[in-house]
Amino acid sequence: MTDCIFCKIVEGTLAADIIYEDDFCIAFKDLYPKAPVHVLVIPKKHIENLAALRAEDQPLMGHMLLKLTGIAESQGLEDGFRTITNTGPGGGQEVYHLHFHILGGNIKPA
Ligand code: 5GP
Ligand code: ZN
Repeated sequence: MTDCIFCKIVEGTLAADIIYEDDFCIAFKDLYPKAPVHVLVIPKKHIENLAALRAEDQPLMGHMLLKLTGIAESQGLEDGFRTITNTGPGGGQEVYHLHFHILGGNIKPA
């Protein structure tokens, strides 16, 4: 998907501060951080959001969820972190490539 900015980050044609990468996902710093630590974790495969997931994506989603804690800890969030994923216009989604926000460093109870 060439008009997707997160696909461009996966392809390496758009710069990002990448902090983790494996065969299935990458994590990079949010360009407009909303917390002292704000990282986005995305699948390399273009999937719009949670609502677009298919049964075949189950192993990929399990893989990503299992990576979140280690990625957060690598950014100094050993005490814990907040994870958000926005789905569709009703969820305030701006970039239509599935991503998990990891936020930490100064989080107030929701
Ligand atoms: P959404 O609102 O879709 O859940 O979140 C999209 C996130 O992507 C926002 O937090 C926004 O700051 C971030 N973002 C938008 N454009 C870029 C970009 O070009 N590079 C990076 N690293 N983050 C971006
Ligand atoms: Zn994409």
